[in-house]
Amino acid sequence: MTPERTCVGCRATAPQDQLVRVALDSSGLVVVVDEQRRTPGRGAYVHRDPRCITQAVKRNAAQRALRAPRADVSALSALGSALSAEEAALCEKGSGGVE
Ligand SMILES: [Zn+2]
Repeated sequence: MTPERTCVGCRATAPQDQLVRVALDSSGLVVVVDEQRRTPGRGAYVHRDPRCITQAVKRNAAQRALRAPRADVSALSALGSALSAEEAALCEKGSGGVE
C-alpha cells in the first residue's frame, strides 16, 4: 500500500510514488526537491507535471505546506521549467501532447 498525498499544485490526491517530494533544507529557508525522500521534517508533494509545479509556485503552496512563507522555491521553479522543456521536446516528436 502506497500512502496517498495531496498535490500542492492541483490539490488532487495521488499515491506518494507518483508525486515529487519537496522539503526545506537544513537552513529552513530553501525549498529543495527531495528525490530520495530523505530530507527530514515536513514535506510537500506535487505531481511531476509542469502545470502543477507552476501552480504551486504561483500560489506559494509549497511554502504554505512547509510552513515557511519566505522560503526560496527556485529549485521547484527550475524543476517546472525542466519538465516543460522535456514536454515540449516530446511534442515536437509528434506525440500531440494530449493527456
Ligand atoms: Zn497535481
